[in-house]
Amino acid sequence: MYKIAATERMKELMGAYFRSLESGAKKIAWCTSVGPAELLRSFGFEVYFPENHGALLGTTRTAMDFIPEAVKCGYSGHVCSYTTADIGAFLKKESPLQKHYGIKGAPKPDLIAFNTNQCREVEDWFAFYAEQFNCPIVGIQPPRHLDEVSQDEVDLVVKQFKKMIPVCEQVSGQKFDLDRFREVVKLSKEATLLWQKVLKTSAAANAPLSFFDGTIHMGPIVVLRGTQMAKDYYTILLAELEDNVLNGIGFLPKAQTRIFWEGMPIWGKLRMMSDLFAANGAAVVASTYCSSWVFDQFDENDPWNSTARAYTEIFINRSEKAKMKMLSDWFREFSIDGIVYHDSKTCFNNSNAKFGMPQRLRTLTSVPALVIEGDLCDLRFFSEGQSITKIETFLEQLEEFKIYS
Ligand code: SF4
Repeated sequence: MYKIAATERMKELMGAYFRSLESGAKKIAWCTSVGPAELLRSFGFEVYFPENHGALLGTTRTAMDFIPEAVKCGYSGHVCSYTTADIGAFLKKESPLQKHYGIKGAPKPDLIAFNTNQCREVEDWFAFYAEQFNCPIVGIQPPRHLDEVSQDEVDLVVKQFKKMIPVCEQVSGQKFDLDRFREVVKLSKEATLLWQKVLKTSAAANAPLSFFDGTIHMGPIVVLRGTQMAKDYYTILLAELEDNVLNGIGFLPKAQTRIFWEGMPIWGKLRMMSDLFAANGAAVVASTYCSSWVFDQFDENDPWNSTARAYTEIFINRSEKAKMKMLSDWFREFSIDGIVYHDSKTCFNNSNAKFGMPQRLRTLTSVPALVIEGDLCDLRFFSEGQSITKIETFLEQLEEFKIYS
C-alpha cells in the first residue's frame, strides 16, 4: 500500500486553517481560487475560498442535496455545480465543514473579491453573497483567451488590482503597505515553486504523486498561499516525494501507461477513478488542474506586474493555441501515453473537449485521447458503467501505441 506520510500534516494544517476562519481574530475576505489572495493577505485578511467548499460538497457527495435549493431560486442546474451546490448549502444552512472541521460553516465575509480569469460564473456566484451579506465586492476582469499576454494586458490588470486598494483599506482598517505585499508575494512564490517541484516529481519513471493524490495535496496551495505554513508544508511533502523517487518508489509498482488528466476532477469519484486506473496499470501522472496553482511569474521585486501577469497567464484563461502548446510540453515532460479529457457538464470553462481540440492536439502530438462525460460535483451527469468501459478500452489500446514512455 503506497501512502504519503505528509498527508497527516496536511490534514492538521487544513483543520487549523478552517478553525482560524471561525476564531474572529481577523477580518475575512472571500476570494476565488485564482484570485488576488496575496493582496488580500497583505491587508491582514484571513482568506476563505468558496470553491474549496464546492470541492468539499463534491467529495462528500452532498452537492446533489443542495443543488435543487439553488435551482428553486432560479439558478440553472446546468451552470457551475460549485456555484449551485454552494448556494444551495447556504440556503439550507448546512455544510460538510461542520462534520469535517467542527466549524459552523462558511465564515461571514467582510469583503468579497473575485477574478474572472477562470470564468464569469464566479462573478455571478460571488455577487449572490455580496447581496445576501450586504458586503462590499471587488473584482478583476482580465482580458481572456490570449495567445500571448502582453505588457498592455498586464498594465490593465495592474490598474484593476490597484483599484482594490481603497476598498481593502476601508474594510480592513489598514493602510496599504508595499513591503508587506512584497513579503506575501515572496511567501506565495516560494510555496508555488515548491508545489511545482512536487508536481514535477511525477515526471520520474516511478511517479510518486498521482493526479488523484495531487487534488488532495493541493489544498494548502489554494487556501494558504502567501503564508509560511504553505511553504513549510510543501517543503516536507517535496522531501518525501523526492526521497521516494530516489528509492524507486512510485504510487504504482510498475506503470504500463502514463496518463494526463485534462479538466476538472470528478470529486465524488476520486477513489473509484484512482482504483480504476491503478487496476489497469495506468499511472495518471499529470494534469492541467493541479498545475493551475503554479504561479512561477511571482516576483516580490515587481509585485504588481508579476501577480497581474501570473494570474492572467493561467491555462484556463488562454487561447486554444496557447493551451495546445502547454499540453504538448507537458506530454513530453511527463512522458505521456494518452490524455483523458473530462468533459464536465456544468463547467464549460474548464472543459476543452467541446470544440475539437482533442482531435487537433492528437494531430499535433500523436498522443491518443479519450473524452469522458461527467461533472465536478453533480454525479447525475456521470455514468460510472459507461466511463469504466470507455477508460478500460482506451487503456488497452494504449498498450500498443506509446509515444513517449
Ligand atoms: S471554472 Fe468551472 S468549476 Fe470553477 S467556478 Fe468556474 S464554472 Fe465553476
